[in-house]
Amino acid sequence: MRLVLFDLDGTLVDRQLAYGGAVADLCHRYGLGPEAEAWLISELADRANAVDFFRLCEVFDLEPSAAELWRGYIDLMVAAVTCRAEVLEGLARLRAAGWAIGVITNGAGDIQRAKLAGTGLASLVDGVAASGDLEIRKPDRRLFELGATRCGVSLADGGWMVGDNPTGDIGGGHQAGLRTIWLRGRPWPDGLPAAYHVVDDVTDAITILLAETE
Ligand SMILES: [Mg+2]
Repeated sequence: MRLVLFDLDGTLVDRQLAYGGAVADLCHRYGLGPEAEAWLISELADRANAVDFFRLCEVFDLEPSAAELWRGYIDLMVAAVTCRAEVLEGLARLRAAGWAIGVITNGAGDIQRAKLAGTGLASLVDGVAASGDLEIRKPDRRLFELGATRCGVSLADGGWMVGDNPTGDIGGGHQAGLRTIWLRGRPWPDGLPAAYHVVDDVTDAITILLAETE
């Protein structure tokens, strides 16, 4: 069975589009002021986890509990994040062609799994490895190994990694012995080995993988 591991945020789903709206809705729902909103927009720019909301409550001395705010944020993010129909269809075609599909993501397990469920991705994915569950982050090879294992295959048999982060996804995938497809956008660091393919959209990556099957 062929293996492909996908990054989640910025690859299968557009987190950047969703999180600003989720933060605004959260602040509206809980009556948080513009300073708290600006703090959240800045602090959650790359990712969010429960600890961020404990810090928020400390900094702004808030009434609702941090756990309640975190659960509220997860609900609003799940409502805001979508996966495009053509991406879901492409993944279904990959599976039908015999690929094992994993998601490896640097993020908290609870919110990342909620997003996978809410977007319809969960039913198309064989295995998920979230960094927050283990305190192991991409580019650490162990997260790639876990992703492969959870798909029921061995990383030693090779496969592909698709993602938007040069160091975490492409550098990490390369070190893990995988061929890589980079979704261009971020600056490419000096000295990092080139990706095997570079694309503008994840559907282009899926097309490349489907051609590999033939
Ligand atoms: Mg990403």
